Amino acid sequence: MTATTLRSTAEIVAAEDAHTSGLYMKRGVVLVRGEGATVYDSEGRAYIDCVGGQGSANLGHGNETVARAIAEQARTLASCTELFYNDRRAELYDVLARILPSRLDRVFLCNSGTEAVEGALKFARAATKRSGVVATMRGFHGKTMGALSATWGPEYRDLFGPLVPGFSHVPFNKPEALDAAITHETAAFIVELVQGEGGVRPAKAEFVARAAYLCAERGALLVFDEVQTGFGRTGTMFASEQYAVVPDILCLAKSIAGGLPMGAIAFSRKVGDLPKRSHSATFGGNPLACAAAVAAIGEIVRCDLARNARDRGQQLRDGLRAIQSERIREVRGLGLLVGVELKENAAVALRALQDDGVLALGAGPTVVRYLPPLVITAQEVDRVLAASAKAFA
Ligand SMILES: *Cc1c(COP(=O)(O)O)cnc(C)c1O
Repeated sequence: MTATTLRSTAEIVAAEDAHTSGLYMKRGVVLVRGEGATVYDSEGRAYIDCVGGQGSANLGHGNETVARAIAEQARTLASCTELFYNDRRAELYDVLARILPSRLDRVFLCNSGTEAVEGALKFARAATKRSGVVATMRGFHGKTMGALSATWGPEYRDLFGPLVPGFSHVPFNKPEALDAAITHETAAFIVELVQGEGGVRPAKAEFVARAAYLCAERGALLVFDEVQTGFGRTGTMFASEQYAVVPDILCLAKSIAGGLPMGAIAFSRKVGDLPKRSHSATFGGNPLACAAAVAAIGEIVRCDLARNARDRGQQLRDGLRAIQSERIREVRGLGLLVGVELKENAAVALRALQDDGVLALGAGPTVVRYLPPLVITAQEVDRVLAASAKAFA
C-alpha cells in the first residue's frame, strides 16, 4: 500500500499498526493538520492542542515564517556538516548568544533532547576528570543509555541494565539531601527546573541555590535540563532566569527549531577545551535545522511568547484552581507548563478531555499535564477550562 492510497481513518490506523514498533501508547485519533494552538484530525474535527508536540510546538502549528525559512534553506543547502563553516549556522550561534546568559558562550548543536543530555554528561566527565553524576528522583532526561542513567523512572530503566555506572539520585526539592550527594568525585549535578514527565513539579529556589553553591564549592558542574522548560515555556525565555542561577551547562531541544528535530548544549568556559573529535554528530548544526531555529527563535522573541506563557499560564492555573472537584488534589506549574494532580488515575480525565475537543498529556499516573503552544489565546484557554471542569466533575 502506498501513501497515496491511504484515505480513511481506519486505513491510516491499520497501516501504522501493521508496522509500528509498538512502543508508543497510541490514542485513536489521526492528526493531519494544525494551525496555531489547534490541530485537526482526519475527520476534520478540531482540538485545542495541550499536548503541543510534547513541548516541541511552543510556536504553534503552521507558522508561516518558519515554513518559509525551511523551504528556502531546503532549496539552498540542506546538508553541511561541521567539517565546514556555514552562514545559517553562524547566524544561529549569534541568535543563541543574544538570548543565552553571557557566560554560556559556547554551543554544541545536536538533534534531540536525549542527545543534548548525553553530550552534557560527557562534557562534564571530560572537564572534571570525575565520573559521578547526581540526578533527582522523578527526573526525566531522555532514554539513550547515558541520559537514561540520569532518568529516574524504573519503568524506563529496569529492562535495560546495566546502565552507566556512577549515577545516583537524590530526592527532588530536598536541599538537605544535596550535601552528602554532591562530593569531590561528582562530575555533574543534573536537574530540571520544572520536572515535566515526573509530574509537573517546579523546583524550589532554595533547592536550586543549594545545588549551585555545592557544585561551585566542590568543583562539580551544574547542568540544567531545560529541554522542556526552554524557549518561553515557563514565562521567561529560559526557566533559569527565574531562579537567577546560571548553570555551567544548559541542555536544550524540543522547541528550539520550530518543530524540526534539534538539540543544543550551551556551556561555559568551565568546561574547558574538549579534545577535537571526542564528540560529534553528523546532523549537528545542519543548515536546514539552523534556518528553522533562527526563524523560530526570532518569532518567539518578536511575539514575546514568554509573556503570553506567563499570562495564559496564570489564567489556566487560576481557572483550574477555581474548579470545585473532589477529584483534584493539586494544581501546579510555571508559565504554560501546568499540571493537575488527581486523586485517581488520569486516563479517564484525559479521555474525557479528548472527547470534548482538548488534547492533554499525562505526567506520571495521576497528573494531567497541559503543554499548549504559547500562541494559545485567552478564549482558547477558556475553552480548555470549560472542558476541564466537565472532565474533573
Ligand atoms: C523530552 C525531554 C528529554 C528528551 O528529549 P528527546 O528529544 O525526546 O530525546 C530530556 N529532558 C527533558 C526534561 C525532556 O522533557
